[in-house]
This record gives sequence, structure tokens and C-alpha cells, in this order.
Amino acid sequence: MHVVVIGAGIIGAATAVELQRDGHAVTLIEPGDPGGEQAASYGNGCWLSSSSVLPVASPGMWSKVPGWLADPLGPLTIRWSYLPKSIPWLRRFMTAGSNWDKVRRTARALRPLVQDSPLHHKKLADEAGVGDLIHRSGNLYIFPTRADYEASAESWKIRAENGVKWLELNADELRQLEPSIDRRYTFALLVEDGGYCADPGAYVSALVTHVQAQGGKLIRTTAEGFDIESGRLKAVRTPAGRIACDKAVIAAGARSRALAHMLGDRVPLETERGYHAVISNPESFPRIPVMPSDGKMVNTMTAHGLRIAGQVEIAGLDAAPNWKRAEILRDHALRTYPGLPRDLPADRVKVWMGHRPSTPDSIPCIGPATACADVVHCYGHGHIGLASGARTGRLAADLVSGKPPAFDPSPYNPARFNG
Ligand SMILES: Cc1cc2nc3c(=O)[nH]c(=O)nc-3n(C[C@H](O)[C@H](O)[C@H](O)COP(=O)(O)OP(=O)(O)OC[C@H]3O[C@@H](n4cnc5c(N)ncnc54)[C@H](O)[C@@H]3O)c2cc1C
Repeated sequence: MHVVVIGAGIIGAATAVELQRDGHAVTLIEPGDPGGEQAASYGNGCWLSSSSVLPVASPGMWSKVPGWLADPLGPLTIRWSYLPKSIPWLRRFMTAGSNWDKVRRTARALRPLVQDSPLHHKKLADEAGVGDLIHRSGNLYIFPTRADYEASAESWKIRAENGVKWLELNADELRQLEPSIDRRYTFALLVEDGGYCADPGAYVSALVTHVQAQGGKLIRTTAEGFDIESGRLKAVRTPAGRIACDKAVIAAGARSRALAHMLGDRVPLETERGYHAVISNPESFPRIPVMPSDGKMVNTMTAHGLRIAGQVEIAGLDAAPNWKRAEILRDHALRTYPGLPRDLPADRVKVWMGHRPSTPDSIPCIGPATACADVVHCYGHGHIGLASGARTGRLAADLVSGKPPAFDPSPYNPARFNG
């Protein structure tokens, strides 16, 4: 079959590789550079985390929200001008995390997507000749005190129920493992089977180059719609003309909503905007990617420097970035790694803003479209799209190819929002 993949972030790129593995001719449509700065896949925190199974919303979180919103250095912000538009999404988001049974259901749905994430990515990256970008280093969660960990014990219990394993580290053990970290952190958890990608943009770019080397095409344009006759897909419409095809995959990240709606699926996709700051040639950095519990961010040493990524800003796709959010990340890193200079020159910090494609229930949409089963939805991976990219690509290819799926796709059914 000829399959058009719309979007060349990690989801589209991994899906394209898997479609070729199944013997299909593949055309990728992407207006920017594959893995370029327009994509969330470029600027994320680089975590290939097998333990990221919890939804973003959790019981009790809403009592913390007013405090976060009031705190100018907090991890969450909502642009007031965008609030009316975002209220329906926020309401569903709140409901999705309103009790632990719902959180458990989400964790069971997400675990197959992220389990052994570094191993699955390593295989893909090796095929594309960039296996050295993938590291199974573990992921390190650091807490000021053991009591701070215990305050989130239920969420760790749910991780354990889903097969996530970790080691507990006391202050001495943490110091020995990561001497760069400030001594105010006295407790840590090491999830050994997690990892990171040292340069996600370069990784995605290499996957797409690999697809092209295998005979796939990359067309620099934007998908605008579909030609469907008698329920069968005939072509994807673009400003450059119709691209005739048998099947298509929507993998346009946070910009997938309009395409989904054209196919009868009312997916409430929102952008959770996030930021990063990359400190070049850092004097001090962790060897293992770190998540400080008091920062809601990740710190990862990458090919370009120490990347601090995080923040959630609800402000829509078009508002200008607020670089203050990236400065908050940089400043937190200065407090986490005392070996970094206080007077870091501005030209050593590169900032970026991007769009997490987020469903309100933190579960991606992977499944056939209601109006035409020849089109497969494949987006909405929120905070875990890099980690879950390899397994998502495999599942999406199974659905396109009509093979028995690698794992149960029912939790990801995009039609769950149609009722
Ligand atoms: C600050 C931040 C930190 C993060 N940290 C992590 C992390 O550590 N680990 C993790 O697993 N995840 C993380 N994420 C989430 C992760 O980056 C995303 O879930 C993932 O990159 C989404 O991939 P995607 O391919 O769906 O979308 P994208 O990477 O955004 O790619 C979509 C592509 O589609 C293209 N496109 C858009 N519209 C069209 C169209 N109409 N036609 C054709 N092409 C189109 C775009 O140009 C873009 O290149 C983070 C995200 C952010 C913002």
C-alpha cells in the first residue's frame, strides 16, 4: 500500500519506519525540517522514561493549582485571555484525574507504550545509524526529604503495580551517584530501566533520512484535508496538490485537531506549551537525567549542553512565547547544581518553547478514524511522546497493515471523545 504519514515529529518518523518494515511505500508530509524547532520532538526533556505512566492530573492536584497559578515561579500558568477557550478541556482534564481508580486505568493504558522505552528506541536508532544517541542510563527522581517522596507514595504504588521498579537512595548514596546535585536533596529514587536521547531533534531527523534511504518520500507541505469516496481514502489534500494514497496516518502533534474533526472525531486536543533552557558547556551536570520533585521539570545532559525542560502554559497554539518561563527553569537549575556559575552569561543559555499535544485524559489517540477507517489517528502523547514514540509507531503500523496489534489498542480509541 501507499501510506501518507502527516507530520514528521517522533511519532510520524517512528511510524514511517515501521510502515516500511511492513513493506509499504511511505510518503511523509511535513512543512518544517523533520525534528526541527517547530516540533515538540525537538525541544523536549529527552527522557525515555519507562515509569511515566501517570496522567498529568491526579487527585488532590486541584487544591495546589491556585498556589501554582499565584506563584510567578510556579510550574503552571494560564493566559487569562485564553481561559474561556480552554475551560472545556480543563474541566475534562480535572475529571480524568479526580480519583485513584481513574489514575490506575490510565497507568494501565500508558505502560505498554513506555515499557522498555530505551531498548525500543535503541533498535530504531541503530537502524538509522544513530544508536549512540540513545542511553539506558536510568532516570533519577530527587526529593528534598523522604517525606516529600512519601507525600506522593500513592503514585509510586501505582507505578509498582504496573511493573516499574526502582532503588531508594539515601543522602550519602545520592551524593556518591551524582555529586553535582545540591545537598538540600536528601532522598532519591533511581529507575534503572529508564534512559534518555542525547539529541531528540537529530534522532528524528536521522529516522526520516533513513526512511528516505529506504525509498520513502518527504514532501515539504501541509496536509489540509482528505478526499474520501464511498468511505475509502483516495488522497490527502495539500496546497501542493492531491497526494493519492491507500491509507494515511495523522501524526501532526498539537496541530492534529482540525484534521481529526474533518473525519468525524471530536478529539479535544489542547496544547500544553512547554519550555526549555539549554546551558552550554556546563561546569556541573548530572550524568543521569534528573527530575527534582520541587521543580516539575527534568534536567538532562544532552549533546548541546544541560537541558532543563518543563513548565505547562495554557495559552493556545498562536500566542507569543513568554521567555520568563524558560528563565524560571534556568534559575531552578542554578539552585540544583551549585557548581554552575551564578552569573551565567546570556549567550550560554538557549531557550525554546514548544507544544505538547495533549488530550484531557493524558492518553494518546491511536486508532482508525470514524468517517474513514483508512486514516489512523496517531497523536496526543502529551508529556510522554518521545518515550512512547517507538511503541506507538509499531502499534500504528499494525493498525494500518491490519496485523494483530503488538498490544491492546482499545484504550487509545479516538472515538472515546465522540459521545
Ligand atoms: C518542554 C517539553 C518537555 C518534554 N519532555 C519530554 C520528555 O522528557 N520525554 C517525553 O517522552 N516527552 C516529552 N515531551 C513531550 C514530547 O516532546 C511530545 O509528546 C512529542 O514530541 C510529540 O511528538 P509528535 O510527533 O506527536 O509531535 P511534534 O513533535 O510536534 O511533531 C508534529 C509535526 O507535525 C507537523 N505538522 C503540523 N501540522 C501539519 C500538517 N497539517 N501537515 C503536515 N505536518 C504537520 C509539525 O510541523 C511537526 O513537525 C516534552 C514536551 C515539551 C514541550
